[in-house]
Amino acid sequence: MAEENQELPAREAMEFDVVIVGAGPSGLAAAIKLKQLSPETTVVVLEKGSEVGAHILSGAVVDPIGIDRLIPDWKSDDTAPFKTQVKDDRFYYLTKTSAIRVPNFIMPPLMNNHGNYIVSLGNVCRWLATRAEALGVEIYPTFAASEVLFDEQGAVKGVATGDKGIGRDGKPTSHYERGIELHGKYTLFAEGARGSLSKQLIAKFGLDKNAEPQKFGIGLKGTLEGRAGQAQAGTGATFVRLAAR
Ligand SMILES: Cc1cc2nc3c(=O)[nH]c(=O)nc-3n(C[C@H](O)[C@H](O)[C@H](O)COP(=O)(O)OP(=O)(O)OC[C@H]3O[C@@H](n4cnc5c(N)ncnc54)[C@H](O)[C@@H]3O)c2cc1C
Repeated sequence: MAEENQELPAREAMEFDVVIVGAGPSGLAAAIKLKQLSPETTVVVLEKGSEVGAHILSGAVVDPIGIDRLIPDWKSDDTAPFKTQVKDDRFYYLTKTSAIRVPNFIMPPLMNNHGNYIVSLGNVCRWLATRAEALGVEIYPTFAASEVLFDEQGAVKGVATGDKGIGRDGKPTSHYERGIELHGKYTLFAEGARGSLSKQLIAKFGLDKNAEPQKFGIGLKGTLEGRAGQAQAGTGATFVRLAAR
């Protein structure tokens, strides 16, 4: 939300109906849904990673309920990255020298992964991006939104990407490239859990008023790949998720 530096050249501006910041699962799902509902709506997605999926924490066990609703025909798409279904859940309490199995029936339902898929979330995002682009969504990797833009009434009117080629002294180098402005009728911030622009907006508009504080937990996760019948847990991780292919 820095003030425009008067010494720098003006930024070029591009107009869209919807500007989405972040090509993670939520940004891409939103882009796809928007195009499904309204194909003529212009949608752009900015991603700061070198490519879609580059900044996504990859190994995940995913409930397909969302993808079933968003892309109902995904099972007939050979390129869909949902291939390995969970067949068995085992939970162990680990001591220094042994592992005590916790019966599945006392585990809360959310720990039951039957029917879920073991995926690379980065690959899920890459696949979602191809589906979004096929619907006409424009996706710009390597473009980090670095500034929220406001109109005269103080409403969000879009974002600006950062200038490239600034020297250590804060002055433009010979590689200097001015950032661009992306204006949208709507701007959707899908930066993930602690997005820098989202934090500014939460503070500015008091969006966390009457809301629970963000909660964070620490966990360890290992995904082991093996042939059917051969998968074995063998690490000291808090929990290990296994799938037999
Ligand atoms: C350790 C860990 C394990 C997890 N395991 C599972 C699991 O097993 N199953 C499951 O369902 N979920 C799991 N999750 C949760 C899951 O990863 C998140 O719910 C999901 O990734 C959230 O998607 P998102 O699109 O909101 O944000 P993110 O996935 O964080 O995506 C945000 C994207 O926005 C980009 N971005 C951020 N800021 C900007 C900016 N200013 N300009 C441009 N681009 C920007 C980032 O590069 C990133 O690509 C796990 C999460 C963690 C941290």
